[in-house]
Amino acid sequence: MNILSALRAQPAQPTIAPQRRISIKSEREIAIMRQAGRIVATVLKEISQLAKPGMTTADLDAYAEKRIREMGATPSFKGYHGFPASICASVNHEVVHGIPNPRKVLREGDVVKVDTGAFYEGFHGDSCITIGLGHMSDQASHLIRAAEEALYRGIAQVKAGHTLIDLAGAIEDYVKSQGFAIVEDFTGHGVGRNLHEEPSVFNFRTQELPNVKLRAGMTLAIEPIVNQGSRHTRILRDRWTAVTVDNKLSAQFEHTVLVTETGYEILTDRTQIST
Ligand code: MG
Ligand code: MG
Repeated sequence: MNILSALRAQPAQPTIAPQRRISIKSEREIAIMRQAGRIVATVLKEISQLAKPGMTTADLDAYAEKRIREMGATPSFKGYHGFPASICASVNHEVVHGIPNPRKVLREGDVVKVDTGAFYEGFHGDSCITIGLGHMSDQASHLIRAAEEALYRGIAQVKAGHTLIDLAGAIEDYVKSQGFAIVEDFTGHGVGRNLHEEPSVFNFRTQELPNVKLRAGMTLAIEPIVNQGSRHTRILRDRWTAVTVDNKLSAQFEHTVLVTETGYEILTDRTQIST
């Protein structure tokens, strides 16, 4: 899940530097966050394998909630600011925060974003994948690949001593090099005891907030959103679902990432999950 743009419209508070409000996790807390991340990774890996044309986004949500609870966690999103489900399911031109719906039937060629979070022993994990359902157009495949690569370009910049602008610049430059647009209306975020913590993790260069130097023990949800056409979005009347203004496609990937002295550890890494 993303932080809404409204949150970053707030003026920076001059009395407390954002750097000081960013929590540094202890080894014990990191061990718990590894488990929370593993639960999220497991759910998303399983959903990527079971999602098929003919299923509904409500089917995916029911599966995710069942698995999160089976693994001893609770869904981070359900009830968060009133969000009614355990996943955000955003299809094609829907950008983020799509509400699962039993009438929303998935079709061959759909670009399906599934974002979910698990709350485990007091800590959250947060991750998103984009699934290309069945046979995909070349353009849609390119968009999905670019969104995933954009995430890894950002993650590659994560290391104690680097800054959030290093990360944002790597994502922005890569997305532009592919001929796509980076969405600016939503950002990533710190994650830990709260689903959304300081700092905001931008996917583009900005002077809007002080540049934050990364420190070992910070945990960040990095989540670039890549649009085929315009970067601009609008919110539907359900007050959650963001869509592209030109109805073109959108793709997103997200990981919860731990900053270490020498680099990073991806806490929601699906490649470690055997199914
Ligand atoms: Mg998320
Ligand atoms: Mg998030």
